[in-house]
Formats: sequence, C-alpha cells, structure tokens
Amino acid sequence: MKLEIDQQRLSAEIEKLAAISEAQPPIVTRIVFTPADLKARAWMIARCKEDGLAVRQDAIGNIFGRWNGADSTAPAVGTGSHIDAIPNAGKYDGVIGVLGGLEAIRALQRSGFRPKHSIELLIFATEEPTRFGIGCLGSRLLSGTLSADAAAKLKDRDGESVDEVRKKGGFSGKLQDVKLSTGYYKAFVELHIEQGPLLERAKTSLGIVKSIAAPASLNISIEGSGGHAGGVLMPDRKDALCAASELILAIETAARSSGAVDTVATVGVCDVFPSAVNSIPSRVRITLDIRDTDLARRDAVMQTIERAAQNISAKRQVSIQAELLNADAPADCAPEVRGALADSCRQHGFPFLEMVSRAYHDSLFISRIAPTGMLFIPCRNGYSHRPDEYASPEDIARGALVLAEALAKLSS
Ligand SMILES: [Zn+2]
Repeated sequence: MKLEIDQQRLSAEIEKLAAISEAQPPIVTRIVFTPADLKARAWMIARCKEDGLAVRQDAIGNIFGRWNGADSTAPAVGTGSHIDAIPNAGKYDGVIGVLGGLEAIRALQRSGFRPKHSIELLIFATEEPTRFGIGCLGSRLLSGTLSADAAAKLKDRDGESVDEVRKKGGFSGKLQDVKLSTGYYKAFVELHIEQGPLLERAKTSLGIVKSIAAPASLNISIEGSGGHAGGVLMPDRKDALCAASELILAIETAARSSGAVDTVATVGVCDVFPSAVNSIPSRVRITLDIRDTDLARRDAVMQTIERAAQNISAKRQVSIQAELLNADAPADCAPEVRGALADSCRQHGFPFLEMVSRAYHDSLFISRIAPTGMLFIPCRNGYSHRPDEYASPEDIARGALVLAEALAKLSS
C-alpha cells in the first residue's frame, strides 16, 4: 500500500473553508448554527459526498461521512474534529482534523486499500462553548455525558434554547437519539494542532497524546460587609476583596504544591461590588478553572482549596459560597490507538513526542465510549484561537499521512 497525501489540494481546501466566515480574512469566526456555520457544513457535506462517503446528520448537527468497510456490521473506526470557530479565530483549530481526516480517507481510497471495518469521518457540532456556554455539546450527547433534556434547555445570549436554535438550522430530530450505541466505534483518532509550544520547541513534527486533561469550573462568591472607606476602622472590617485575595493566593499555592506540573489552576474573573474608590468591597465573585490529567489529584487540590476557603471565611468573618459549574474527568488515551499511531510514525521514520493535551477536545468525551487517541502537529508559537494561528502545509500533510496509516491498521 502506497499512501500519498495531496498536500496542495488539502491546503487549498483549508483556505476555501477559512473563507466561509462571519469576519474578514484572515479572521475566521464561525459560531455554531449561524449562516457561516451552516454554509461551511453544507460545503463539507458536498466534499464528503464527492469522495463517495455516505453522509448522515444527527439532531444536534454532528455530521458523519462513512466509507463502508467489507464488514458493514462491524464497529467503525472514527476520525474527525470540529469546524465551528470562536470569534476572531484562525484557520486550523479543528479544521485540520476534519479536512486532514478526509484527505487521509481519500489517500487510503487512492492506494487501493479496502477496510474491513468502515471508516467514518465525524464532524462534531458545537465544540466551542461560544454560543451555549458549554463546550463539546455534540460529543457530550454522542457519549451520553450530557442528557438530552439538559442539553435542550441550554440557552444562548439572546435567550434562545438549543432546541429552538437547532430546529431553525434544520435539525428537528430527537436529541435522545444522538447518543451512540456502545461498541459503535472500534477506535477513534483525532488529528489536531497542539495549541501549545512544546512540539515547536522540541523541533518535532508529531505528538502522540497520552492523556487529555480536563477542567473543573466553579463560581465562587465572597460576601463581607461594605462601608465608608474612611469611617470603618480596620479591626471592624469584613472586606470581601481582601478575603478573595487570600483565597486566590491559596488557590495558586494548592495547585503549585500538588506534586505535578499537570495541575493548573486559574482565577480569570474577579468582579468587585460596588467597585468604588471610597467604598469597602462588600461582595466579590471570582471564577476558578482547575485542570489536571489525574482526577484524584485534581479532587485533592480542590479539597485543599475548600479547606483554605473555610479558614479564610472563619478568620475574616465573610461568607464564601462555591457553585460547581462542571467537573469533567480527564481521560487516558487507549494503548491500541497510541500504538497504531506510534507504529505509523516509526514506519515512516518520523520522530514523535508523547504528550499531554492540556486543552480539551471532543476526544475527551468519545473516550468514554470508545478507545480513543489524538495526534498533534505543531502550530507556530503555540498560538491558537487567534487569526495568526498557523500550521505548515508540510506538518499538516505529515499528520494526515500518519493518521491514514493508523486508520488502515485500526480498520483492517
Ligand atoms: Zn479544537
């Protein structure tokens, strides 16, 4: 089997898809179910059909393009990613896993390879949390990680629910039917840009993901008591911002002392009320995003933070309430998928790094229902989610080649 990636065609397709955007080039903005997103989906479906894939869409808008294998009843081997993009994004996030996945399938077709298991391109709907505040809606529903009822009620900024928005986009089926049956996929592989600088620094073009870190997010409110900045003497104060400051530093200390570099914690929002120069802050709201590749370690750090919050609350006589928004478990990638990717790299003499995915992806959720792996390629300076995001055509083609080889191994 001689596999060849058509680098020129792949690059041209990446440019064409990038041009379907709500913003002027080179900016890509493609929020789910907007006219740009619907147009991009139609364009992708046409590409899949051109290459003889059988296309279906589910009720949340996940697109499946299937190349039937010799045993059409056997579980399929899946590959894919997403094409929705946050405002002011670039051309490559998600897209290289979709167009690179399609080119991998075409390369296999051109080589004369005939899979035993069907190979399926999966374009996940609504990976980015931009519209509904929660990421990976499509893969959460496919894996049953989120219930259809909970998903239907999510609302966008204009107060429109997922159910209303998807129906306007032409997706009227039942959300209950999106969940895939157990054993639907024999294996799943996602090709993606690294969205970090490690491959570039190591001058290595390929990364095989060992584990995918996952976040827990919390809203934390601190209530003290306000008053005149001149009138209330220091011993009498219950300053909510001073308490929040102590808590933020305790969060940093807890993450730093977890014993692993994979633990990261961030307070990215701090709202102060009433936010006036001569008024003692009476109320503060902060957010906490804490990520790790190990669930037990992440939970232990969260308990340390909770104890710190109790101490600060008692000492400063303020109330501290935390609301857990989500707590997804991290995932280990499947040995058989990592093995297929590593064998493919070795076969071509391509060096690779084994690494952690610090961003999370649809693969995190698909890993709940199928052996899953991810292949990373470098992106310049580690930049992603910005218009100057860049991956070289050579790196993309190399990623697609290794992906194609791995799909062949997994589907034989
Ligand atoms: Zn992505």
